[in-house]
Amino acid sequence: MSLSQYSKKRNLSKTPEPKPKIKKSSLKKKIFVVQEHHASHLHWDFRLEMERVLKSWAIPKEPPTEKGIKRLAVHVEDHPLEYANFHGKIPEGNYGAGEVKIWDKGTYELKFKDDKKIEVVLDGKKLKGNFVLVKTNYGNKPEKSWLFFKV
Ligand code: MN
Repeated sequence: MSLSQYSKKRNLSKTPEPKPKIKKSSLKKKIFVVQEHHASHLHWDFRLEMERVLKSWAIPKEPPTEKGIKRLAVHVEDHPLEYANFHGKIPEGNYGAGEVKIWDKGTYELKFKDDKKIEVVLDGKKLKGNFVLVKTNYGNKPEKSWLFFKV
């Protein structure tokens, strides 16, 4: 049970029991970004700040802004946090060559996470509300395949 349950059950101004100390870093909202990447195949890179890196998924079709659309999201390598601000042209001959545009950016709240499911509340311009990433075996990279959708 979470610390918020602990606090809820007590009037901490009236009992000598310890108040939970909340680290400032855990209160800080985490960022997310979606980069539209015009590489050899157009895709959208969905990135979530987690454990001081950007956990990343490549989505072959435009991410869903409405409920009822499920998109394949292929788990790709972590990117540095600074990458969230990157847009511009990756030169010809380099990995991922092509134009990168920031399609959406904002903050998010993590609701749930385990090895097979991640639930977030996104607060971006295009992506707003509750979204889920869930592990699937679909596609040609089953071990890296997730589904991304709005709930
Ligand atoms: Mn990419």
